[in-house]
Amino acid sequence: METNMETYDIIIAGAGPAGLTAAVELSKKFKILVVERRKPGTTSSTWYSYSDRTKKYDIDEAVAFRTDHIMFTSPTQSHKMVDDCVILDHNKVLNIWIDRAVKNGAVIRQESFRDYEYKDNGVVVKTNKGTYFAPLLIDAMGSGSKIVKQHDLIKRKDAWVIYGGCIRHKKMEKPYGLEYYPLNDPENTYVGIHPLNETETNIYVFQGKSNTMGNPAELVGKFKEVIKKLHPNGEKVQNLGGTIVSGSLKKYALNNIIFFGAAGMLNPDGCGMGFNEILKQHRTFAKGITKAMKMKTLDEKTLAKVADSLRDQEVINFQKIIGAFSLFFIKSKGKWDGGVKWLNAMGSDSKYWMRNEFTMDWIMRANIRLHKVIPIKETISMIPFDDLAFVMEQLARFGIKAVNSTIKNKISKKPQQSESVEEFHGQAKN
Ligand SMILES: Cc1cc2nc3c(=O)[nH]c(=O)nc-3n(C[C@H](O)[C@H](O)[C@H](O)COP(=O)(O)OP(=O)(O)OC[C@H]3O[C@@H](n4cnc5c(N)ncnc54)[C@H](O)[C@@H]3O)c2cc1C
Repeated sequence: METNMETYDIIIAGAGPAGLTAAVELSKKFKILVVERRKPGTTSSTWYSYSDRTKKYDIDEAVAFRTDHIMFTSPTQSHKMVDDCVILDHNKVLNIWIDRAVKNGAVIRQESFRDYEYKDNGVVVKTNKGTYFAPLLIDAMGSGSKIVKQHDLIKRKDAWVIYGGCIRHKKMEKPYGLEYYPLNDPENTYVGIHPLNETETNIYVFQGKSNTMGNPAELVGKFKEVIKKLHPNGEKVQNLGGTIVSGSLKKYALNNIIFFGAAGMLNPDGCGMGFNEILKQHRTFAKGITKAMKMKTLDEKTLAKVADSLRDQEVINFQKIIGAFSLFFIKSKGKWDGGVKWLNAMGSDSKYWMRNEFTMDWIMRANIRLHKVIPIKETISMIPFDDLAFVMEQLARFGIKAVNSTIKNKISKKPQQSESVEEFHGQAKN
């Protein structure tokens, strides 16, 4: 090993939510280097979350806007998802995490990850400015991760392609809420509105794409049209955009390397909502890494177990169903209408779907409710052919479980534990 090479316990590539939350937790015990190609503390994403979550994970001070619902509008109907939602000041939240990690001794540098090679039971990481060594590399470089690409690890690529900006505008008579609506164009483009305050709003357009990583630049024209209509005199003060790639990885770890965040496709096909998942999972992730570091077992198999601990198979199965439906909504003529109809069928339970907070009980109830509103024949017609066998198998399994638990409850004459919304909260994984 070169003698002048800086050595760390862990190198983290990427200072988005995944890299920085991992850095905050792991810097309590280990010597950490974070490399980020952009100015650390800046991002082109915008995040909404929930007030209980921002409190629980101690980032409430980065909340820019609070609202009691998300509004999903389609050409023929709308769904008001009642929940305590918040929109974060995206740069502020990153800076909070940077301050905490640096306070713990982490080193954060603006450098681009270039390459790595194995050496002495660890990894030598090359950036555009230096060469570093650590026993463990955490790849948190997002959906465009070089390592994921290099090893061709994405099994299936579907993407939400996003382009937009933070718009400074006049105070509006009827202010924005947190809302999503379709442009009703042939390309199936949607608009997302994340207000930050009375005169600044993150506005973006997004499109679902199949079998591609997508290119946000394709949406520049669409976004300009939207802004011309909404805020002809508005000023764009920051660019937003990116791709939320969904799919699963062939491997969630390599020897001495683990993927976290969008680089590790935290959500399966069709449900790429990374920020909230990262918030929910980062402490479990850090615990798993701490144990592996202490045991000095950083082989692919052990690290894959850490990645696996973030995934509950029942939840993944249900997410895959959601994914199959999402793809249907992206591709089909009914488009957004189908999605909103589905949300309406779930009624007030839809928020647990959006939050990714569901228990087996919830899944069963949601299924029964959906089939009451959307008959099983129609459901089948919504599922992409490739996913049909999997989705039908899961629906049948959930159905059988639901029947069994109803019988059990009748026999014991106890009321179902999960009847109240408060109890769902208590039972949620998180
Ligand atoms: C406009 C937009 C809106 C969104 N809205 C929401 C939302 O409301 N709720 C939600 O849950 N999710 C949302 N998402 C998804 C969410 O932003 C991402 O899933 C989340 O940011 C993933 O975090 P991450 O840290 O894994 O990756 P990223 O945020 O992509 O961070 C990766 C970091 O790695 C850096 N990097 C990349 N390559 C290199 C390299 N070679 N060297 C060094 N650094 C590198 C990047 O510069 C970046 O800072 C949105 C995404 C976008 C684009």
